[in-house]
Amino acid sequence: MIAALCASAFASSDADELRDEFRRAEMERHAAWAASATALKRIPVHEPVYDVTSYEIDITPEQADSSITGSVLVRAQSLVDTLSSLQLDLTDTLQVDSITGSAASYVHMADLITITLDRTYTTGEEVDLTVYYSGKPRPFARRYGLNWGHNGLQPVIHSYVEPFFANYWWPCKDVPWDKADSCRVAITVPDSLYAVSNGVLADSSAAGPGHTKYEWITRHPISTYLVSIAISNYTTVHDEYESIGGETVPLRNYVYPEDVSIAEATFEGLPDYMAHAESLFGAYPFRDEKYGHAIVPGLGALEHNTVTTWGHRLLAFNGGFDNIVVHELAHQWWGDLVTCADWHDLWLNEGFASYVEALYRESRFGPDALASYMIGHEYHGGQPVYVSDIPDGGGLFTPAYTSAIYGKGAWALHMLRYEIGDDTFYAGLSRHKDEGVARGGIATTEQFQDAMETESGQDLDWFFDQWVYGSGTPRFQAYPFMTIAGDSVNIRIAQTGDRLFRLKFPIMAGDTTFVVETSDSLLQFAFAGSGIDDIALDYRNWLLDESFDSENDARLTIDESGARPKLLWEMKDPFFSGVYLFRADSADGPWRQMTLEPIMGRSGTYTIDRVTKTEYFAMRSISDNMPGFWTSLSRTVTNREPSHIDLDSGDEPGAPTSNPYVVSDNGEYRIRFDLPEPTAVTIQIYNIAGRLVREVASGRSFGAGFDREVVWDGKNNLNSPVVPGVYFVRFEAGGFEATRKFVAIK
Ligand SMILES: [Zn+2]
Repeated sequence: MIAALCASAFASSDADELRDEFRRAEMERHAAWAASATALKRIPVHEPVYDVTSYEIDITPEQADSSITGSVLVRAQSLVDTLSSLQLDLTDTLQVDSITGSAASYVHMADLITITLDRTYTTGEEVDLTVYYSGKPRPFARRYGLNWGHNGLQPVIHSYVEPFFANYWWPCKDVPWDKADSCRVAITVPDSLYAVSNGVLADSSAAGPGHTKYEWITRHPISTYLVSIAISNYTTVHDEYESIGGETVPLRNYVYPEDVSIAEATFEGLPDYMAHAESLFGAYPFRDEKYGHAIVPGLGALEHNTVTTWGHRLLAFNGGFDNIVVHELAHQWWGDLVTCADWHDLWLNEGFASYVEALYRESRFGPDALASYMIGHEYHGGQPVYVSDIPDGGGLFTPAYTSAIYGKGAWALHMLRYEIGDDTFYAGLSRHKDEGVARGGIATTEQFQDAMETESGQDLDWFFDQWVYGSGTPRFQAYPFMTIAGDSVNIRIAQTGDRLFRLKFPIMAGDTTFVVETSDSLLQFAFAGSGIDDIALDYRNWLLDESFDSENDARLTIDESGARPKLLWEMKDPFFSGVYLFRADSADGPWRQMTLEPIMGRSGTYTIDRVTKTEYFAMRSISDNMPGFWTSLSRTVTNREPSHIDLDSGDEPGAPTSNPYVVSDNGEYRIRFDLPEPTAVTIQIYNIAGRLVREVASGRSFGAGFDREVVWDGKNNLNSPVVPGVYFVRFEAGGFEATRKFVAIK
């Protein structure tokens, strides 16, 4: 976060808020699905006894009864010398009709097909199995599996299976770490529909009366959860991108026919996002195939290789830059090319893609945009980035996990980058990518750490223990002190959390930035010349910290319950020994010191004059350990306005503005008032004879604040304009009552 001492704040635009709100909506909906999904589904587990080399899926969905018939040819190699049986995952809601090839017999139960092979296979020998299956693959929790939806009267059928529900529509070894080297998906649909999958369209041909078979093939390694189908009466929106790899990448968005223009607007930034990602991570991995989106009902987005599934409601974001487009595209490198080896390591997908959103902002809008974006990803809770126990069902995608996996995962990368420097960081990512590809397109957290250690030459155990495997974030008390003469600054920083963190963060003082690296609980250092109000701890937000408390520990309040108001202060930190008090007529000063000498003690009171006007109060704390130094001004407190007003006092020159005051505005009268707390307000207009002319507010509720307003249209109870002349506005709020005279004019 940005230190409280620094006055600058990074305000987010309305567009950001809209996106954030959308994100929240998506998250909540996803959470609801996931919550009903937990406990429903076992997590597939496989011993590494065989290695899948390819899948060939051939299915015919039947919209009328939400059923499929199909077959999957699984080619695999034995990894042991005695492979006599193997297992594939397939939900029990689907039925295995037969298995041909290397199978002798099979049993399908508990969502597993256990296949006895026709003989024993030795290491490296190939096994071919074709599983013929059919049934009604209903998604559970309304989401995971094959979804049967509509767009108007048109069917939309699509898969959505992360993390481990591919077996809800096809038999496979449903773990991310065994990628098939290639995957062919053939889908037979009525001629009015179009079917999309990963990779390139190898063929489309007539398949019986009124039907077309679309055959897609990807020749890049792919995990089961990333194998996708999407079917509707799609129109294809074509574009292209010139990759730094030299190829022309087809950009293909498969959209409902009526959505062509909104889809063009939604995805128009794609070439720019791709150029950004290529500049950081190398050429787009699937540039010989395609990239694009297939529209499906709802709000979700899932980064299937070469064709992200994209919820129709996300098309609402047709405003150019779009974090979600950037995020899903980033997954093509981080998630699809290099995939988390297991769900423990999901942050290698999601933390990375989230951080790319931040990096895109940085590259296009500068370092403050990066700092601002990271604030939105902060997470301080107990769930580590690395997930030790994988929850059942969709539990991984509930906020209990996503805040750590996405948010803190992005932060881990952000801090690692600061720790080892930009050049080493990006070189490390490149090494991680190359090594991941070399081992078949998967990576564990340990392997990522190895890549970064090799590249940086540093032992990063402490970093991964602290930020990836460990929980929580550091917390501080930070006090800058300045000499009363104003020529030297001393900063004292104490870690106050449960656990001591090793830290690195920048401090900006005036126009100088310097880097603090420490494992100490207490840090104190001085430098000459800078103004105390210009100091920013953790300048531009490189450290995920719970807070740099400074003023919070030194609290100034005002008590106006008695005849004369009192200032009260309290400082918990024994480092402090006393205060100087200040007052001013405006929150911006100038500030006048109220006593010549400091008032000693960590708590105390000071009685001020009876209230005649609004005044602002603040304090500076001092410490015996630092004679001649004081802290910056504390947050100010204000006395309330005078609580009773005589009829005409407001008209006297120099008198304070009082509740209420009346502003004439084109025949209307704006009756304005300030409320120190939320209150019901009654406002009545009387004529000079004391007769009620109109009640303009009757116990109407207002929040606390300045310049609350009720408008009187200048008409009486009979809806006729009043005669010009003197009137009274009677104002009642809580126990407070006031009457003010004003002149109604023509
Ligand atoms: Zn993602």
